[in-house]
Amino acid sequence: VQAVVVEKGAVRVVSDWPCPEPGPGEALVRMRLAGICATDLEIVRGYSPLQGVLGHEFVGEVASAPDPAWVGQRVVATINIGCGECAVCLGQGPEHCPRRKALGITRDGVFAEFVALPLDNLLLVPEGLPDEAAVFAEPLAAALRIREQLAVPPSTLVAVVGPGRLGLLVAQVLAVAGTSVVVLGRRPASLALPQALGLDTALVPAAPTAGFDFVVETTGNAAGLQEALRLVGPLGTVVLKSTYAGAAEVDLTPLVVNEITVVGSRCGPFAPALRLLAAGQVQVEPLIAAVYPLGEAVEALEHAARPDVRKVLLRP
Ligand SMILES: [Zn+2]
Ligand SMILES: [Zn+2]
Repeated sequence: VQAVVVEKGAVRVVSDWPCPEPGPGEALVRMRLAGICATDLEIVRGYSPLQGVLGHEFVGEVASAPDPAWVGQRVVATINIGCGECAVCLGQGPEHCPRRKALGITRDGVFAEFVALPLDNLLLVPEGLPDEAAVFAEPLAAALRIREQLAVPPSTLVAVVGPGRLGLLVAQVLAVAGTSVVVLGRRPASLALPQALGLDTALVPAAPTAGFDFVVETTGNAAGLQEALRLVGPLGTVVLKSTYAGAAEVDLTPLVVNEITVVGSRCGPFAPALRLLAAGQVQVEPLIAAVYPLGEAVEALEHAARPDVRKVLLRP
């Protein structure tokens, strides 16, 4: 089958990748539409030692499954595959299983005509929700994770640093609760889309402090973390959503002096993400910059890495 493969840090499209063989309890899913996110770009740069198929954001159709009720259904899938046996898996779930595999990160992903996935990871896409919206379920779930981790009272001042593909989902998810959310960017051009989505925007303030109660860092670079620590006020909270290759060097003293809470935030709940999409409470389709055929994935990855480009999709 056609697949986008990372090998020894290089990415290419191959047409003779073996069709994945579903294990016990797994379905074979035909990919319909997949999304490129910052993590994919970082994997190509060496963030994870993946040797295999890239990609974890997608919507597909079940081609075969141990339970025939799934066959033909349109699905999205959570990306962490736990061992299913350890205390973590049996307690809170697979996200922090020490033996977990993550789709497209440490196990073959979805930038391929077919992907094998445990039935436990699949969620039905609500009828009437277009593929172009459903494909955002994974990043929207990741944005919602913040609201699982933290109570963000409606009266607080929230800044989202980075008007990119994830930042615009985070900002919308936090604004749904009536909270005052400002999307901060470095250039006016990068703020045009958030403004069109009805979000408050501002250029990153130059003042040494800004006094936000919550600052969410979504830029995907080490400078963004430094910026977030400058923007947060005393007793405030910084949420880190970015993963990147390489290490960040930051001055930790302001963290101590100002008693800042730093929260790492990764994968989130899919069911509420699908509900928000089905209810039209979060706008995602304006984020789509381009749709490429799977065979042109290398060009699509280059496109996704350009400034002010949000979501680039792949279609088989
Ligand atoms: Zn992603
Ligand atoms: Zn486990």
